[in-house]
Amino acid sequence: MPVNRLPSFTPHLHPNLGSPDKIRPDTFLKDGQPKPMNEIPLTYPDSFLTRFHHHRLITNLSRLAPLSAYQRPQTEYETLTMTGKVPQHGISHLYSLLQRLRSTTQHFRIGWETDLCMQFSDDEWDQICSLTHSCSRASRFQESAYKLLTRWHRTPAKLMQMFPETEASCWRCNLKGATTIHIWWDCPVIVPFWEHIHNIVSDLVTDPIPFTPETYLLHHTLLAPEIYKKSIQIRLLNAAKALIPAHWRDPLPPTITEWINAVEQIRTLEELMFSSEGHLPSHTLRWFYWSYYAIPTRHIVSPVSPPSTLKEVSNVGGT
Ligand SMILES: [Zn+2]
Repeated sequence: MPVNRLPSFTPHLHPNLGSPDKIRPDTFLKDGQPKPMNEIPLTYPDSFLTRFHHHRLITNLSRLAPLSAYQRPQTEYETLTMTGKVPQHGISHLYSLLQRLRSTTQHFRIGWETDLCMQFSDDEWDQICSLTHSCSRASRFQESAYKLLTRWHRTPAKLMQMFPETEASCWRCNLKGATTIHIWWDCPVIVPFWEHIHNIVSDLVTDPIPFTPETYLLHHTLLAPEIYKKSIQIRLLNAAKALIPAHWRDPLPPTITEWINAVEQIRTLEELMFSSEGHLPSHTLRWFYWSYYAIPTRHIVSPVSPPSTLKEVSNVGGT
């Protein structure tokens, strides 16, 4: 940070180091403390006025940040800006700098780990991001999954952080300051919806993923990613998750009929895609039990009916 831009900087503190923009806080600091006056190359270091302005500058700096923070190593971007020159292939250079920032822990990862009271290893988190990135060929469901992963939606808890004077609450059960995990998973009104989905998924596949928020919401599964991505489970869950923001601020949960229709949208789209790519047999195999058992029963499935209404397909094998 060039200190000459601060209101407390005056020409009395100009240490004759060339361009004023080259005067940095560490000109006046040493080991997180103000540098002795005789170590700063000032024109009149002993004058009362210089000492007065020096005191003002140090006070100003310490109000903005701890003095030790001004002497941290510069980032690559800061070093680049210090040169005052435009680098060759500037856009590519800046893009590569941004790419390298990806190793920094994402704030939404911390949010999920806090909400779920668990810690993901880097490999687990990479797999969650990778599965979310490629969970569906239908862009609407892909976008919905990405927004969920990045905690894009404004929950009551987030609104109360932004506007402390408000008392935002869950629009379904009135819980004050409801968190992301409550809105998407724990809310008593949404729990029957998920239980219903889980029962249907368990009936359709031989190896259902565990009924936990990390698996259902984030695709955190022990199944091999290439197997999970080809399974019908990921498609059924993508459809279920996309319905929750569609009912944002609605006191009622999504219905199973809506979910079946959303799944059908995915199935129809994939049928067109795989048909044109010559992969129709694998598509038909994946959706076999859904098409022949789940869909014909939709007329007896209601949003509040017990999950046992689909038990007639309970002996069906896996995908
Ligand atoms: Zn609620």
